[in-house]
Amino acid sequence: MGRSVLVTGGNRGIGLAIAQAFLAQGDKVAITHRGAGAPEGMLGVQCDVTDAEAVDRAFAEVEAANGPVEILIANAGITDDTLLMRMDEEQFTRVIDANLTGAFRVTKRATRNMLKARFGRVVFISSVVGMLGAPGQVNYAASKAGLIGMARSIARELGSRNITANVVAPGFIETDMTAGLTEDRKKQILGNVPAGRYGQVEEIAAAVTFLASDQAGYINGAVLPVDGGVGMGH
Ligand code: NDP
Repeated sequence: MGRSVLVTGGNRGIGLAIAQAFLAQGDKVAITHRGAGAPEGMLGVQCDVTDAEAVDRAFAEVEAANGPVEILIANAGITDDTLLMRMDEEQFTRVIDANLTGAFRVTKRATRNMLKARFGRVVFISSVVGMLGAPGQVNYAASKAGLIGMARSIARELGSRNITANVVAPGFIETDMTAGLTEDRKKQILGNVPAGRYGQVEEIAAAVTFLASDQAGYINGAVLPVDGGVGMGH
């Protein structure tokens, strides 16, 4: 407890629930936002994860206030859905840049100090879609699958330094991201969820805080699905 935690995109949705869960445990929590600010009790640092200089500045601010980041949650992400035939290259690379390269930027910056400290916990927020694919989400699914290879490579590179890199793969969670789906699409998605309901942001936060805990020190390179059974463990 009392550790320095940074959650990207922690101003709303899943990221906010994760930040609140760490705060409730007594950790020092910082979040990145893109102008929305931070809730009471957390340090807000303005940062777009597609901008390496902004990432560096944000880390410097967190380090000055809370000390080097010990727990990094790469949560910031976007969708830009359309079928492959209609998806242009800009739409593809924009989603990869935010979801995958953005996670790379923050992790690279964070692990510098984790290596010095010989301790670190990195959790990537992927998606069940990274494993199963989804029509209209070629860009998003590729970015989310990429996080798994990235986490596992980091686990192999840094595992001996007491640094873990794991992945949480949420299913369909009620947030702004999913609020825009049509009722038909929502019904269709729900039909494939063994739990028979959508997930709640707190259920993702519980998995993340576990993976960041001391008790999870021997879990590395794992993918933990929190999806009501949609992916059957994948
Ligand atoms: P929201 O759309 O509610 O929130 C997304 C967050 O990411 C916001 O804080 C947003 O900031 C931030 N963000 C987006 N792009 C950038 C960027 N370039 N730089 C910095 N911050 C950025 O999404 P959710 O809470 O639903 O999703 C959070 C994560 O969980 C995402 O990675 C998403 O892919 C993943 N996920 C969500 C699922 C769901 O069903 N909701 C299912 C599976 C995975 P701002 O407020 O400024 O826009």
